[in-house]
Amino acid sequence: MNENIIEQIEELRSRCVVCTRCGLSDTRKNVVFGEGNPESPLMIVGEGPGATEDATGRPFVGRAGALLDEALAACKIGRKHVWICNVVKCRACIVEDGRTRNRPPSTEEISTCTPWLEAQIAIIQPLVILSLGAPSAKFIIKKDFRMTAERGIVYPTRYARCAIAALHPAYILRQAGADYDGGKSLLIADIDAARRQVIEAKKEPKPSLF
Ligand code: URA
Repeated sequence: MNENIIEQIEELRSRCVVCTRCGLSDTRKNVVFGEGNPESPLMIVGEGPGATEDATGRPFVGRAGALLDEALAACKIGRKHVWICNVVKCRACIVEDGRTRNRPPSTEEISTCTPWLEAQIAIIQPLVILSLGAPSAKFIIKKDFRMTAERGIVYPTRYARCAIAALHPAYILRQAGADYDGGKSLLIADIDAARRQVIEAKKEPKPSLF
């Protein structure tokens, strides 16, 4: 392990977990910074924490996380092989009829939070980014990303050698029957495409300084 990368990522984590740059800090229980292998060539970027992530401070540990783990395992990838984080580090929620529900983060919340993600990417320098869900793909790949038409395609990105987007596991969980099975197969196929892109990127020479 490169001590320098670990030190840098832990220093960033210590600043991120006390962030109060936006209103999400008023309602969050924990900042969900990200976890995994900070030396991984593959970074997985979701949308933002849900209730279980907020309660634990860990990304993708609820039902969507269990589906993600299953899809990763189908590609022989474990959590220790990748870095997993989100576009937004705190849970976005609303209270309705006494119940707290997730809501999509606003454009302002996203733009206030993404310097944390950019700082993570600058330290980890992944070769490939896998975006889970449209908000992540719109940030990493392009603003007008359309998930149905453009998932699974290898895109250039300024954040890595390339990026691929996949259906968000929470979206797949909302499907039933054949749609659920189909969504899960696509998620596995897109994770596997990202894995193969890592292998290809490792073959390419590193950009020279001179
Ligand atoms: N959904 C996300 O986008 N991220 C998480 O960490 C959990 C659910």
